[in-house]
Amino acid sequence: MSAKGGGTPPEPPNLSSPEVVALWAKWRAGDVVPCPRDGMSVALAVDGAAKSYRLVCTQCGLASPWFGTTPSGLVFRNTGGATLPGGPLDE
Ligand SMILES: [Zn+2]
Repeated sequence: MSAKGGGTPPEPPNLSSPEVVALWAKWRAGDVVPCPRDGMSVALAVDGAAKSYRLVCTQCGLASPWFGTTPSGLVFRNTGGATLPGGPLDE
């Protein structure tokens, strides 16, 4: 019996992709990036090994998903519980 339980997406990030793109554009332009939620400053977290970036509010913790930068734009990483393709998990 195959129960299809994969309909629920993982927890959505606090910031939507368009928001992150807009914030990142401001960051790159050297502007102050205020948190959309409380207006506090947003810091950039960097994962040097993965060359990934993340915008995190220093006040409320509102965060973007990890993303990488490419010439054609931002590429969002799959964070959190990775969905394993293939059959059902059966230990
Ligand atoms: Zn905030």
